[in-house]
Amino acid sequence: NLSERLQTVASFLPQGANFADIGSDHAYLPCYVCLKDVKASAIAGEVNEGPFNSANETVKQFGLEDKVEVRLGDGLQVIKKDEVDQVVIAGMGGALIRSILEDGKEKLECVETIIAQPNVDESSVRKWFMANHYEIVEETILEENGHIYEIIVGRLVEQPKQLSEKELLFGPILLQHKTEEFFLKWKSEREKRSRVINQLKTAKSDQQEKLNHFNKELKWIEEVLA
Ligand code: SAM
Repeated sequence: NLSERLQTVASFLPQGANFADIGSDHAYLPCYVCLKDVKASAIAGEVNEGPFNSANETVKQFGLEDKVEVRLGDGLQVIKKDEVDQVVIAGMGGALIRSILEDGKEKLECVETIIAQPNVDESSVRKWFMANHYEIVEETILEENGHIYEIIVGRLVEQPKQLSEKELLFGPILLQHKTEEFFLKWKSEREKRSRVINQLKTAKSDQQEKLNHFNKELKWIEEVLA
């Protein structure tokens, strides 16, 4: 049974998707999609040999060899230009997702949709999207096993909407209808910011810049929670 997190990621793919799942681990997501949707096909990319082997095993186990191709390699290096229409990158930090996108930029020219599920640092992904012609068209936030996850969907457009710093932090769509999970996340983030601010205040070295940054974010968090 696929996690609710990955089922939700999968729900943002269109019918008959032709996609790459980068950092696929066991290739559970592409196998799930291709079992449900006979027209779908996928490339599962893995940089590490262990997960690469596990991915091949899962594909074999489900008899999906003609639907899911597992490739060993770093980030978007495993795909050719024109090969896929959607890219999924899930279950990693936002900074890593951002660097995978940035390093493989030239492979994305024909990729209409990127579905990202950063575990932390979501704003890095949003900033990259905005700077690289991907407009955020959908976002969701969910809780599973005590963790809160965000999923961000970018669509290739001529001119993406410019987002404010606050929208980059909270998510332009998540901010529009704040859910229970949104409040849970940002209450916990408020605690974290307050703790960091207190630590910085007692630090010997001059941390004024960081302090200003966290104070600004804390103010925004207070605003959205109000
Ligand atoms: N995408 C799956 C999910 O969301 O459940 C697996 C997430 S797992 C925590 C992260 C996977 O990404 C690992 O299997 C790791 O080997 C792989 N990975 C990390 N950096 C990568 C890169 N630069 N290119 C391809 N795969 C990478």
